[in-house]
Amino acid sequence: MGSIPHTLSSLLWRVPWRDTLVRALGPNYGLRVVLFHHIADTDTPFTDGLALRCPRERFAERVAFLAEHYDPVSLDTLLDAGRPLPPRPVLVTFDDAYASVPRVAAPVLAEHGVPGLFFVNAAFLDNADLSLDNLLCYVLNTRGMKPIESAARVAGGERLAKAGRPDDLTGVIQGICTRLTRGETQRFKAELLDATGLDAAALARDADLYLSRDELRGLARYGIEVGNHTYSHVFCRGLDESDLADEVGRNQEMLETLTGSPVRSFSVPYGSLADYTPALRACLRETSHGSCFLVHALPNPAELDLECIYRVSMRSAADSETFAELEVLPRLRRLAAWGSRPETRESAS
Ligand SMILES: [Zn+2]
Repeated sequence: MGSIPHTLSSLLWRVPWRDTLVRALGPNYGLRVVLFHHIADTDTPFTDGLALRCPRERFAERVAFLAEHYDPVSLDTLLDAGRPLPPRPVLVTFDDAYASVPRVAAPVLAEHGVPGLFFVNAAFLDNADLSLDNLLCYVLNTRGMKPIESAARVAGGERLAKAGRPDDLTGVIQGICTRLTRGETQRFKAELLDATGLDAAALARDADLYLSRDELRGLARYGIEVGNHTYSHVFCRGLDESDLADEVGRNQEMLETLTGSPVRSFSVPYGSLADYTPALRACLRETSHGSCFLVHALPNPAELDLECIYRVSMRSAADSETFAELEVLPRLRRLAAWGSRPETRESAS
């Protein structure tokens, strides 16, 4: 979207009856779902370049905005077929296992009476390991691209030679990681650690990026439910049945054991429809995940499809920009994509 939709949004934002006007762009718009990752005022070498960080004050302002202009709902409300959604429903979600969610975001949500849904990868609990994305980010920031390229060549061989050389972290994740099988991804990570002499567990301990088991158990006190985001944060497009049992089924079991509550929702790592394969859909049905979330900034229809819920990554810093992100741009994207398959993929999730 260029500047015309943003100009239109800021003009509309100033009109008192903007909510009526914006419906002309697409009347059939139900649940809004917003996505955050890491709430922090500064980046570290583990996150600088991933573009997943929201500063604390901005987060608090956005939550206050949602509480004032929308009706925040919980997953319970969505899954309760007998309960109608309120007029302006919004659900606040978080992906990945960042400790800033219980430490920073949870008290803010509780202060405003806003429920949350946090999609967690159990592999990173207690900082037992470092996710591949955070490791790639750290290596790129401290050692450069060379060790990443050589580890990728060892893991993926000739196939990756055709992919071209990545320029940045997005290029590495989308150009290299999407092309690797689960086994190759594990080898890529092992080769990267070997080439750099780094120790993932030691780095994870020092970085203290992820939440602890105790913090996971304490989320319910803040009205935050725990959802599944795969065990080790993998692209799901190449996973076979046994990979899915390990990544989806095992993660669900671990999170349920730790929290004592059912895990009823799944968020597709990286958020793309390309990873929402028939095998993944079948696996989610078999494991009684009642809902699945993607990262496509499209309007959810009033008749919500629980197996395909679209979310908007919140990047805005001002009320008029949030209005654009939630009300104007999704409707315009739907108009532009009318009759065709939506492709508004986020670079990282
Ligand atoms: Zn993620």
